[in-house]
Amino acid sequence: MTDDVGIPMTTEWTDACRDVDAMIVVDRAGGEVERNPRADALTGGLRFAELLTEESRTKLGRVLAAPRTGVELITVEGAVLDVTAVDAADATVLLVIRDVSRYAAAAAKLAVVTDQLSRRNRDLSTLYEVSAQLSSTLNLAELGEATCQLIGEYIGARTVSVDIGGHRYSWPGEVPDDPASGSLPLTMAHAEAGVLRWWREGDLDASERRLASLIVGRAAVGFDNAILHATVEREADHDALTGLLNRAGLTRLLPTVAYPAAVAVLDLDHFKRVNDRHGHGIGDHVLVRVAETLRAMRSTEIPARWGGEEFVIVLPATTVDGAVTSMDRVRRRISSAVRVDGEPVTFSAGVAPLDSTDDFERAVTAADDALYRAKSAGRDRVEPA
Ligand code: GH3
Ligand code: MG
Ligand code: MG
Repeated sequence: MTDDVGIPMTTEWTDACRDVDAMIVVDRAGGEVERNPRADALTGGLRFAELLTEESRTKLGRVLAAPRTGVELITVEGAVLDVTAVDAADATVLLVIRDVSRYAAAAAKLAVVTDQLSRRNRDLSTLYEVSAQLSSTLNLAELGEATCQLIGEYIGARTVSVDIGGHRYSWPGEVPDDPASGSLPLTMAHAEAGVLRWWREGDLDASERRLASLIVGRAAVGFDNAILHATVEREADHDALTGLLNRAGLTRLLPTVAYPAAVAVLDLDHFKRVNDRHGHGIGDHVLVRVAETLRAMRSTEIPARWGGEEFVIVLPATTVDGAVTSMDRVRRRISSAVRVDGEPVTFSAGVAPLDSTDDFERAVTAADDALYRAKSAGRDRVEPA
């Protein structure tokens, strides 16, 4: 029996191999000696070498000289063939050929998917690291903007905003007028819950939502810490009743004051009577009203509650004369605005120059002496040191 291209076939051999891979027996010069029907089907009647690209044909020559397994040959039509070459009888070589194009395509696709997955994995771990850092800053604004940007870049949002503790942070700019595409709550232990919103086309898919929730959870820990820190810091520096700075708060601000400055020590007149006649509740209310009036002074002037019904006011870049004028104005305002049973609340004050942060103790003592003189001179007045 002979095939179309004149190659003699061994019937028993081809029968035995009918349903397996394409097989071709080749002599060392490349002449084909035998082949099975599968080989015919594969080559479409052509000699095997004729199927191959120039490069693969050269490679085949080398394989015939030194038979080996796992050889990849490419046909001119782009098919990928996996070839096993083994030494056979009479110095021939048996080629077992399998068309693995389908697997090659699948493997290429798999490589792309694997690459995408590993890139995504890398992205996720970077995101997770960054989100972990979010819980390590105590600056609310920094945290707000970083969270918005992180989520925004991850989900490809137009805009992301965070509303928290009465503040709004957004990325990359202002929040648009149209309603948000979605939101996640920022649940916190020490403060009211906040909300993160985003604007983008389409809903988040399951994995985006999972990771966004994770980051938002991390950020919430950071916001919680920052808010708690701000609260503790605020409470440490402020008087609980009036909300004015306390001694620690004022002392902390001294290095920022424009010198030479002035300091005033102020003490309410006959305040014990207010308590005795009207009760501590009214007394407290008077202290709050006085504090409000002090807070309404020029924004550069720094009032503090020194203790009891005594207040200290630092007046930056002010002379003693200027401070006396300023405190006299406050005195008139308080006596007209704060009254108990029609009786005006008055205070006495002493004013002293304040040259530097280090001068503060001395200046307060000097102002205190002047205050004592104001009391002795009949109260409801401001005395310079
Ligand atoms: P003077 O004009 O000599 O300053 O008379 P005064 O009554 O104001 O002076 P004194 O120091 O004898 O009394 C201060 C009073 O202030 C005593 C205290 O009961 C009251 N006081 C101090 N802290 C507070 C507070 O937080 N709330 C209230 N309601 N009263 C306070
Ligand atoms: Mg007093
Ligand atoms: Mg007093």
